[in-house]
Amino acid sequence: MNPSAYIGRFAPSPTGPLHFGSLVCALASFLDARHHQGQWLVRIEDIDPPREIPGATNTILKQLESHGLFWDGDLLYQSQRSDAYNAALAQLHRDGLSYSCNCNRQRVAALGGIYDGHCRQHQVGSDSAIRLRLPETERDSTITFEDLIVGAYPQNLCSEVGDFIIRRRDRLFSYQLAVAVDDQFQHISHIIRGSDLLDSTPRQLYLQGCLGASAEQTAAMQYGHLPLAVNGEGQKLSKQNHAPALIPGEESSNLWLALEWLQQAPPVELRSENSATILSWAISNWSLAKIPNCAEIPAPNSV
Ligand code: GLU
Ligand code: ZN
Repeated sequence: MNPSAYIGRFAPSPTGPLHFGSLVCALASFLDARHHQGQWLVRIEDIDPPREIPGATNTILKQLESHGLFWDGDLLYQSQRSDAYNAALAQLHRDGLSYSCNCNRQRVAALGGIYDGHCRQHQVGSDSAIRLRLPETERDSTITFEDLIVGAYPQNLCSEVGDFIIRRRDRLFSYQLAVAVDDQFQHISHIIRGSDLLDSTPRQLYLQGCLGASAEQTAAMQYGHLPLAVNGEGQKLSKQNHAPALIPGEESSNLWLALEWLQQAPPVELRSENSATILSWAISNWSLAKIPNCAEIPAPNSV
């Protein structure tokens, strides 16, 4: 492939500082981009104020820089993209692909999370949630993509997901909508991220198609979903279960441990080198194929 066509990204939500689990995602997406002489963009996914922590964006950016993970071009802040998301909502509405839903939480929960299309006859109103209308038949709603790490991943949107929310009742744009719009807008070609988002990928591919991407364009999107870093109890490292923030001053060790976790087999001598030296070794020696296709890997004890 034409190397300049590679555009990767890291898209943190500012819900807290980076921890080991987010560092491996940042690092893997950075290394895959740099190994292919591609660009690596950083996008701040700040569209969910109730979940955000003041100052987290700055902390994350400082942590990336202190680990030598310098991004290309300008940062994109999703909080500044409302016009684009509203335009996408208007387009979907105009094309008859969305509808408003007034079902309450209890009703949706009783469906086991897979929405039954109850509100399909409604018009889009202003104080209800907005859902995307999936194809009428299950036959037309299987999305399969070939994940770079996980392999073939088929999902039937009708039977496994249902018409999903693209704008919430509280008027916040959904994660799925914002990601699909922005990955298209930024011409992202490669997405390396955690496998907690594996089952969102078919929704995002489908949405991109609804927003005008051709079948060739969506087929060209490359996704690689990393195993999840888990703590001693087997829980995904996250702010909810108090994953510790990366310790300042430990950047070399963090990077080395992340490379080992990604099974890149970094030589031991590298551990005491500076970030730039470690990253230059890692860019040259990067191999996505060495990352195991498994659901989770324990994080090292010392991070
Ligand atoms: N902002 C999302 C998160 O922090 C990641 C989005 C993505 O990589 O698609 O979980
Ligand atoms: Zn409804």
